Amino acid sequence: MLERAVIDALFPADLPEPQHWEQRYPARRLPEGAKVTRFGPSPTGFVHVGGVYVSTIDKDVSGHSGGVYFVRVEDTDQSREVEGALGQFARAFDYFDLHPDESDAAGEYGPYHQSARERIYLTYARELLREGKAYLCFATKEELADISARQQATKLPTGYYGTWAIWRDAGADAVAAKLAEGAPYVVRFRVPEDTAPRVRFTDEIRGALEAEANRNDTVILKSSDTSPRLPTYHFAHAVDDHLMRVNLVVRGEEWISSVPLHQQLFAALGFEPIPYAHIAPLMKQIPGGKRKLSKRKDPEAGVDFYIEAGFPARAILYYLRGLANGRLAEVPLDEALATPIRLDQCGVAGPLVDLVKLEDISADHIATLTSEQVFEAVRVWAEQFDAELLAALDAQRDEALRAIAVEREGVENPRKDLRKWSDFRAAYGFFLPSLFTPLTGPTDERVTPLGVAADVVTAYARDLADGYQHVDDAQEWFNQVRELAAKHGFAGSPKDYKKNPDAYPGSIREASQLVRVALSGSTRSPDLHAISQALGAEETLRRLRALAG
Ligand code: GLU
Repeated sequence: MLERAVIDALFPADLPEPQHWEQRYPARRLPEGAKVTRFGPSPTGFVHVGGVYVSTIDKDVSGHSGGVYFVRVEDTDQSREVEGALGQFARAFDYFDLHPDESDAAGEYGPYHQSARERIYLTYARELLREGKAYLCFATKEELADISARQQATKLPTGYYGTWAIWRDAGADAVAAKLAEGAPYVVRFRVPEDTAPRVRFTDEIRGALEAEANRNDTVILKSSDTSPRLPTYHFAHAVDDHLMRVNLVVRGEEWISSVPLHQQLFAALGFEPIPYAHIAPLMKQIPGGKRKLSKRKDPEAGVDFYIEAGFPARAILYYLRGLANGRLAEVPLDEALATPIRLDQCGVAGPLVDLVKLEDISADHIATLTSEQVFEAVRVWAEQFDAELLAALDAQRDEALRAIAVEREGVENPRKDLRKWSDFRAAYGFFLPSLFTPLTGPTDERVTPLGVAADVVTAYARDLADGYQHVDDAQEWFNQVRELAAKHGFAGSPKDYKKNPDAYPGSIREASQLVRVALSGSTRSPDLHAISQALGAEETLRRLRALAG
């Protein structure tokens, strides 16, 4: 074991003792059963929807237990860090209203960025070194590669353990010589000699588990030639979650295999172990099976995908809750969002993310909103993603509100034509004069597929416009169309027309479709009378005249 003076000389002289931090971050005073949870994003420039999933669970469990939820930015891997990544997280959490209870601006247990916690990690690394529970390792990259090559050649588990751990039992002289040379080193955890072969632990989701003990002398403090000197995930997890007084670690399933190491670290540091809940990852259906939603392959893995498409946050949160606890998918949105998520009801198999299902949920949700709410939400979305739509909404607010109300307000089954805010333009854009391209006449390519001769279209449309009555009553309104269709020779029914197609320019169906195309630019639209009422007399007339050419 190295002398204490040698160890201490490796650290700042004014580095506090563990006691200092223990006092600085006292046990939290919270009601019995209150959960302190945290979400630990790494700022890599990509916010995975799985992050929203896990932080929803974190926040929900703490909130319903009267506890605390915070975000701790895990920025110790500075090579992976991307500028602007933190802003991305802030925007995503904002969108989903997943605000932490504590942060650097308001919180007693910070800093909430690992890169600002260097002195804390150093204190505990020094302590483990002093106690002989950790050691300096000067192994070079080449030596490590050689070790693992030789292990592979003899089919041994790869890693830095036992006799392969060349610095584990190095003499003080060898260490002193390396230090004198100024050779860089890492600090490694020394796996205790008396480690039992297997370990047991309880996962809040999976119940009692057993695994092989950790044998690797894992790095806890990264290379001494970098500044700041940062911990590895494992060491930071133990130190931070202890001092930040977390009492439930909710994290991705990929960490479950690290629990044996984490148990060893907690024991070596003299910390109370913290219960874990390992969340199964979100999956994607692929031909013949499923796989994890992949950042590289699946656009829907990123939170931005949902925000850009304009899925309402509550619809997504509802969907994610249903994935976490199946029974919550069976109850209405408001009830599901208010019902606590239960860890013991989280699945062990990763749930499938099904965008079609999400769209259905979202359409159902949007159908429950008032026209005002839809307008506001579309407007907020357009502020970020569609400047032209935003301008149209602002300039034609009343028209837009009337349009959104069509077959929505005062009806039993509101239209479900919006699954996300980016659908708005296609579904409602034509209502807004500034977004509608008027027809150029009977030869406009939106008109010709109806197969009605141009001169008939013109005469019929002109007549319609000349006598147009902008009446409230739908029946009366439609009678104008019917009468003029008859006058211009259209068959009274598609059947009659089919029987004798040469005798007519089309049927009442084509005659109505001409009006539909005139008013909406498309052969599919809501009710024609409702459209005319939303457009108003003047705009309706203008569009009928444009059909005439
Ligand atoms: N930064 C870790 C990650 O990105 C956090 C894991 C944890 O929550 O402990 O997976």
